[in-house]
Amino acid sequence: QAKEEGRNSYRFYSKEMTTLAFERLVMEENLQQALENKEFRLYYQPQFDTRTGEISGLEALIRWEHPKLGLLLPDQFIPLAEENELILKIDRWVMRTAMEQFVQWYEEGLNPGRLGLNLVIRQLNSSDFIRTLEECIAQTGFLPSWLILEISEEQVMSKPDEYIKKLQILHDMGITIAIDDFGTGYSSLAYLRRLPVSMLKIDHSIIEHIPENTDSVAIVKAIIALTESLGISVVAEGVEEEKQKISLMEYGYYYMQGYYYCKPVVADEIEKLFLKK
Ligand code: C2E
Ligand code: MG
Ligand code: MG
Ligand code: MG
Repeated sequence: QAKEEGRNSYRFYSKEMTTLAFERLVMEENLQQALENKEFRLYYQPQFDTRTGEISGLEALIRWEHPKLGLLLPDQFIPLAEENELILKIDRWVMRTAMEQFVQWYEEGLNPGRLGLNLVIRQLNSSDFIRTLEECIAQTGFLPSWLILEISEEQVMSKPDEYIKKLQILHDMGITIAIDDFGTGYSSLAYLRRLPVSMLKIDHSIIEHIPENTDSVAIVKAIIALTESLGISVVAEGVEEEKQKISLMEYGYYYMQGYYYCKPVVADEIEKLFLKK
């Protein structure tokens, strides 16, 4: 009986593996075509300065409108794209689209604040990333001072020494470098002094437990204390409830992003909701 079950589950397992491998292949092929087929959508999530109630910036967040599967979130396809050069093409599209949109908004006299773009290490490592960025800026009329490049703590801290020089070039261009998902990795805080970083985005997994969890509270307070002396600004991500906002403000946090304020939405919605109020 047990042997029988064992064999069945083995068979089931291997069949599932084949299905997964097949699905992966199909996804990869779909992903290759998605750019040409114009299936990517750019959503924006506002960031607020709670002192003024104004938008301080918008983070661009990609979605994929898959013809069969519907709207897919980045976690469902970005990791796959990151395994090869596809991510470079996708993020070039994101950069271009978002910059054009921002220039248009500024030309219309609207104020979307700064643009947050997510950067993966693969881009930083690619030899023509900086040239692509400069080209995109020149061709769209976007200003480098409007740009925040967000790179996850986990990725940048894997080899900080390797990235210092590249981040410094971006910083010297007038771009803000932000460390994303901060608090989930294992950053040696000493590196914060050495990296040309001027913003930390605190991961929602920490914000989630504010104010009940004393460890989370201790962490966010320690981060504020440290960043103040380094002149680094902090953004709380994933603020979903008023009690989080109130506590965070008490600790000295001003910049917030999360469902409590607004979910990521398309550009038209941003205009309707905030910019043309
Ligand atoms: P991220 O940069 O940390 O982006 C914040 C994520 O938190 C977004 O997920 C956003 O929708 C979600 N979020 C916002 N407010 C709340 C909240 O109140 N509660 C909770 N639980 N979540 C909230 P999303 O859009 O699914 O993106 C996931 C990740 O995918 C991003 O994390 C970013 O690392 C990556 N990503 C998104 N767009 C792009 C892109 O265009 N290029 C690249 N390379 N990566 C991207
Ligand atoms: Mg981000
Ligand atoms: Mg994050
Ligand atoms: Mg992330």
